[in-house]
Amino acid sequence: PLTSLAGARVEVMSALVSFERVFEVLDLRPLIEEKPDARDVPAGPVSVEFDDVRFGYPAADKVSLASLEEVATLDPNEGAEVLHGISFRVEPGQTVALVGSSGAGKSTVAQLLPRLYDVDSGAVRVGGVDVRDLTARSLRDTLGMVTQDGHLFHDTVRANLLLAAPGAGEPELWDALRRARLDELVRSLPDGLDTVVGERGYRFSGGERQRMTIARLLLARQRVVLLDEATAHLDNTSEAAVQEALAEALEGRTALVIAHRLSTVRTADLILVVEAGRIVERGTHEELLEAGGRYAALHHARFAPRPANSGRDRDRGER
Ligand code: ADP
Ligand code: MG
Repeated sequence: PLTSLAGARVEVMSALVSFERVFEVLDLRPLIEEKPDARDVPAGPVSVEFDDVRFGYPAADKVSLASLEEVATLDPNEGAEVLHGISFRVEPGQTVALVGSSGAGKSTVAQLLPRLYDVDSGAVRVGGVDVRDLTARSLRDTLGMVTQDGHLFHDTVRANLLLAAPGAGEPELWDALRRARLDELVRSLPDGLDTVVGERGYRFSGGERQRMTIARLLLARQRVVLLDEATAHLDNTSEAAVQEALAEALEGRTALVIAHRLSTVRTADLILVVEAGRIVERGTHEELLEAGGRYAALHHARFAPRPANSGRDRDRGER
């Protein structure tokens, strides 16, 4: 059964699912071990640091896993290197945005933080401590992974929220819903918090699902947030509410965002442009536009209005 679970992990992770699932799977992962003298993440706001990180997916992930014994004997250098010396630092409370074309290595960077994989060389540190020296529980409690696809379980609103914070009381749930701009909606549902979500229940819109994800993030209070922004276009009204709620949720937390939205990139403390497994540019939005390099080209291709029909194109880019 472990063999099939290990195989399933690859599939699950490529979709970057909700953090609860991620860590359920992480707990089962046989290859990543907690050291006997592992320590907890230091208290208080924490930094995130990548120090000359090199990484290639294990060859076993490219073929199907035959047996665990076989995996143990694999040469970790066998897989082709995907990240070729990535170094950056997210200061406590700051937001760093990763941008770059598809296949550049952004999601791979994100997967090294919760130790879905370990680096081949270099180090990933949280609060100054190598993630390989941290307890699994402490790392899990510190990191929140948020995807804006906003996966919800076919259960009540309450159950979906309690996944993030099992001990949360009703006032806390409402507080999170209010800050996620969802309280009015949930109040208006036939059974309030006990309304069933999904197929045969109330169908949340895309924007509402995203805000549920944010409500969970607020409840779980992780100090570090990994966010993979949705590329899908959203309607403007929900977009504004989502962005506002998210900005509030990230306040005071250390965030690494795989950014697809101009609004996120613009407000990031630092932008890293990733190309073919390397950081090719870094700076703020203004600095990078000024520099007129890779970022400026990406920015113009994605967000700048085209000569004809420019108003509509600008609208579309912002979403
Ligand atoms: P991005 O998120 O920037 O689009 P990724 O980090 O997903 O890029 O991918 C970087 C490279 O790693 C790509 O060449 C991709 O094919 C490869 N890759 C991603 N996931 C896996 C995996 N599970 N196994 C093997 N190769 C992978
Ligand atoms: Mg990706």
